[in-house]
Amino acid sequence: MTITSYNPADPTDLVVAVEAPGAEAVRAAVGRARAAQGGWLAAGAGARSAALGRIAEAVEAHAEELAALIVREVGKPLAEARGEVARTAAIWRYYAQAPYEPSGAVHETAAGPGLLFTRRRPHGVAGLIAPWNFPLAIPSWKAAPALAVGNTAVLKPAPEATACALRLAELAAAVLPPDVLAVLPGGAEEGAALVAAADVVSFTGSTGVGRAVVLAATGRGVPVQAELGGLNAALVLPDADVELAAGHIAAAIAGYAGQKCTATSRVIAVGTAYEPLREALVKALAAVDDTVCGPVIGADARERLVAAVESAVADGASVLVGGCAPDRAGWYVEPTLLADVPPQHPLAREEFFGPVAVLHAAADLDAAVALANDTPHSLATSVHTRSLDAALAVADRLDAGMIRVNAPSSGVDFHLPFGGAKGAAHGEREQGRAALEFYTVGRTVSVLPGGGL
Ligand code: NAD
Repeated sequence: MTITSYNPADPTDLVVAVEAPGAEAVRAAVGRARAAQGGWLAAGAGARSAALGRIAEAVEAHAEELAALIVREVGKPLAEARGEVARTAAIWRYYAQAPYEPSGAVHETAAGPGLLFTRRRPHGVAGLIAPWNFPLAIPSWKAAPALAVGNTAVLKPAPEATACALRLAELAAAVLPPDVLAVLPGGAEEGAALVAAADVVSFTGSTGVGRAVVLAATGRGVPVQAELGGLNAALVLPDADVELAAGHIAAAIAGYAGQKCTATSRVIAVGTAYEPLREALVKALAAVDDTVCGPVIGADARERLVAAVESAVADGASVLVGGCAPDRAGWYVEPTLLADVPPQHPLAREEFFGPVAVLHAAADLDAAVALANDTPHSLATSVHTRSLDAALAVADRLDAGMIRVNAPSSGVDFHLPFGGAKGAAHGEREQGRAALEFYTVGRTVSVLPGGGL
């Protein structure tokens, strides 16, 4: 099978075509990574720290080239692509300090003499499976913590982001010892083979695939984390600065064509916020251009979005702004807001991963919170209000894994735990210190005096 990726803004532009290596090649790469792991761990904290720091430098040294490749391969607007490259360098630099972190703690014995301590050790080979939407940042926030604590890693990127992953692999290979980080392009076959062979599995992608990956990994008894799709809400309280809220929400609906797991797809206006918010959001979305929105990833994605909007309209919804795929080259969909979408319509229940959102009216705060929580895909929710008391009270009642007050639902600092709640995630959080826990296993060591002491 040939893996191809095309430029979403110009589908005649073939970005890359490579032969998928097949399952056997994945097993062989895991075997080589396993053989390299002992040496990588034994090289010590200083060597691992230096290597990760040099990858950060290499990313920075190639920043404009990498940003241009992200734009070309996945259609991310240039400003966001530059932001992703900067974030990628920051992730590698942040985890370059991690090898020096304490790996355990010394404890007192309950009775008698002895030395008791805990120590966290790497699992072995980390199998990393990534989606296409953050083609450098997500592979990096998986690989950097895995390598920092002494694992080696095999990464399987999404087919749509193959060229970005291969370029990252080249930059890393110039710095790392052989077989410490292998990048194997491929699709479901290679992904499943990696899940079947790795010692720890980290997956980010769609809910259906992720659940199968979790089952396969837990069936083998290996640790697994999965970060999945979201159905993210924005709650606008009556006291909110409506213009400010509309700006943030429009960015979260249409930024990168809504193709962030944390993008807003449901806007919930509480009481008197509804009318002014509707007006401000229509204005804000109508003003969005290609520098913010960009194309969606493929022809299928565009058709699915347009069909969903048409079906909602047939079921009684009204289009407030946008609503169709413009007649132009590239896989573009207009930033779209719909009102009166029936509560059970798929657009109100499932992730569509595009610049399309539904506007709901909630009579009061209780109804708004109930509506926001009425999904298993509880990843990120934004709350818009001038009242700190209200913000904190609402944040406490939301199921979401991430809550952002007076900010777009999309985005979180790279050094904080990242992930969803309920059906939007499985296992330990990504990013920050949580990732260091995930890529290690604890040991408890009890040393009692021997006869010779
Ligand atoms: P996807 O599920 O189609 O693919 C994800 C990865 O899984 C790809 O590398 C793919 O090749 C691989 N894969 C496919 N079948 C597999 C199998 N049977 N076994 C193992 N691996 C397999 O997702 P996508 O379209 O690349 O990405 C978009 C999705 O990712 C959206 O649902 C989005 O919400 C989600 N996402 C979630 C987060 C998060 O942190 N929660 C972040 C980014 C994206």
